[in-house]
Amino acid sequence: MTIHITPQQQLESKSQQGINQGAKLPLLYLPHPKRIYQHRKQRFMQLAKANPLAHYFSLCAKINALQLTIVDQSPITQNIKVAANNLITANNSALLSANNLFNQQWQDYLTQIINGLTDFQPQIDPIIQSLNNKTRQEKQQLATDLLSGAFTKVNSGEALFIWSALACYYTQLAAQLTGETAAIATRAHNSPLCPLCHSHPIASIVHLGSENGLRYLQCSLCETQWYSPRVKCTNCQDMSAIDYYSLDKELAAVKTECCHHCHGYLKIFYQDVDPKLDIVVDDLNTLILDQETENAGFSKTGLNPMLFP
Ligand SMILES: [Zn+2]
Ligand SMILES: [Zn+2]
Repeated sequence: MTIHITPQQQLESKSQQGINQGAKLPLLYLPHPKRIYQHRKQRFMQLAKANPLAHYFSLCAKINALQLTIVDQSPITQNIKVAANNLITANNSALLSANNLFNQQWQDYLTQIINGLTDFQPQIDPIIQSLNNKTRQEKQQLATDLLSGAFTKVNSGEALFIWSALACYYTQLAAQLTGETAAIATRAHNSPLCPLCHSHPIASIVHLGSENGLRYLQCSLCETQWYSPRVKCTNCQDMSAIDYYSLDKELAAVKTECCHHCHGYLKIFYQDVDPKLDIVVDDLNTLILDQETENAGFSKTGLNPMLFP
């Protein structure tokens, strides 16, 4: 395995930055939960074949299938359109957060997910037992810890299932927003985190077919995508010292975008190279690239919702 590094001088040309003068950029794309879970499940199943992570990928595919069933058969009971418009003018906190618009329906989703994983016992049995032994209040506290970024307070195995239930909840909330409400939330936002829920991005993705290849970050919780100019650090916004790492070839479907200013990195996926990729699955399928990038002295600034630290 060799690692290919694109130095600063050979970066993507300025015309590829996605700054399309005169045209209106879509600032963000709200999620379509059923489409996301269906596609992700299929991608996990496709890549599970002859994969050293086959068993884990099958577990993830099953979780996505359960999320799909939840959205289909137990959709969220809240309607947040009016509440969201009022909240957005009331304070500067994340519109979708543990403080705003959070009820306990996600706990029913957690129960549905863990009850649906009987095929994967006994491997995950201790985690399921531990979650089943917790009170609703204890689970609510663990959710609040995860939503506030205190990942070390939660066992990583339990975090996978709790986050999967929370994501199913918040992705449906985000899907209810109107483009106008979401755009107002985005305009006032100036941070590397999701403009709607303030969670970390999974990675960024260059859209297929968009003029000049626009790049969007995708949220690890609510799955919203928000616009981010290319050849610019998504963590500290610096543009002066960016390098790209890829495995084996320069025109790879996935690279790490590395910033020498903050020493952070995040993966960037290219739909024109591989239109079938899924940002969560393909991130897990390229962990060797993370390893090589971390060996070069960079730290990941994103979160994969199927792999907790
Ligand atoms: Zn979000
Ligand atoms: Zn940076």
